[in-house]
Amino acid sequence: MAEFILARENGRRIPREDRIFGISNRAKTAIAEKGRGKVINGTIGALLDDDGKLVVLKSVDDVFRQLKPNDYAEYAPIGGIVPFREAVQKAAFGAHVPDGYTQAVATPGGTGSLRNVISNYSEPGDAVLTTDWHWAPYGTIAGEIGRKIAVFEMFTEDGKFNSAALQAKCSELLASQNSLVIILNTPAHNPTGYSLTEEDWDEVIWILKGEAACGKAIALLVDAAYIDFAGDEEKYRRFMPKLAQLPENVISIVAYSLSKTYTLYGARCGAMICVAKTLEIADEFKRVCEYSSRGSWSNTARIAQVILSRIYGDPQLLKIVDEERKVYRDMLNARGRAFSEAAAECGLKIVPYDAGFFVSVPCDDPDAVSKKLEEQDIFLVPLAKGIRVSVASIPENACRKLPPMIKAAME
Ligand code: PLP
Repeated sequence: MAEFILARENGRRIPREDRIFGISNRAKTAIAEKGRGKVINGTIGALLDDDGKLVVLKSVDDVFRQLKPNDYAEYAPIGGIVPFREAVQKAAFGAHVPDGYTQAVATPGGTGSLRNVISNYSEPGDAVLTTDWHWAPYGTIAGEIGRKIAVFEMFTEDGKFNSAALQAKCSELLASQNSLVIILNTPAHNPTGYSLTEEDWDEVIWILKGEAACGKAIALLVDAAYIDFAGDEEKYRRFMPKLAQLPENVISIVAYSLSKTYTLYGARCGAMICVAKTLEIADEFKRVCEYSSRGSWSNTARIAQVILSRIYGDPQLLKIVDEERKVYRDMLNARGRAFSEAAAECGLKIVPYDAGFFVSVPCDDPDAVSKKLEEQDIFLVPLAKGIRVSVASIPENACRKLPPMIKAAME
């Protein structure tokens, strides 16, 4: 027991070790001792090839290597360099630009966007609403700035998006708060791989229009971190124009990330892009978000902003990048299909899956199941309601092999 505890927890519960990194470290130790072929490490949230190496898009790396010192050494303006602010809107919306007032502010990854939305569109003590299956750092980010996470059940009994639960929870929270931030991670949601369908989106818009009638402020954050690994880029952006149907007191903010799409995880770049009904609300968004950036990380690293600007400044290069990504996306989604097919064959129930880096398996005692699997050198992440499998980090044959083994461990 330490004699002094100097750090203040301030209402947060700070664990001694990040859970996912802990399991991941045990997996790495097992690989070092027994060899890669003997271990399945399905914990990593980055796309790895079949040999376990990080996928880095060569076309993006080529742009990186052509940069001059001024491209990365100089500070970027707080909200991002002008060509980036334009390019990132094209990257996020594609051909489906919503008919509203848009503004982009550069952030360190999608994480920075989450932080700035929560700090500016909720009040201290508020609950921020998201799905029961969600990326755990939402809670960490909210807790850091004195907010908490509330959840609604993401799926109905028959595996559909549970819009009724969303509506009930929105009403409940708006009855006691002046404002509400809602986070929807789609498409290719982490940890389930679910993508809201166009019908799901119609319901979400209808619900938010109804909830907005109370006159309070609502911010809908669309966490699109995996959008370019879901499938056809244009098809998965068709929902975007629907955001423009929301009334004046609902702002939509797309959290766009370069981490996965451009394999620039470590360059820490993304953007928060608003869709607002009026110019005043879009200008307010820019002003408050830039202010928050100044007071947290200041400006965002320039390097990835320049890379994205170069890619969007050259249509031929953009085509090459998109084509290269597609090869890896096809590899990833073949893994996901292999896992779902093998699960169906052995009767293992999985959470509704569409695409992306992760598949989840619901179970009663995730910690016990993951411990049992670790004994067989299978490393997966236990969540509150099940086990998360990163199909992004294991080869297709492992994806086929896993479902019966998970089923056996559950039994
Ligand atoms: N949202 C989700 C659901 C994620 O899984 C991640 C990264 O793993 C992010 C956002 C943000 O990532 P980054 O800050 O690297 O863009």
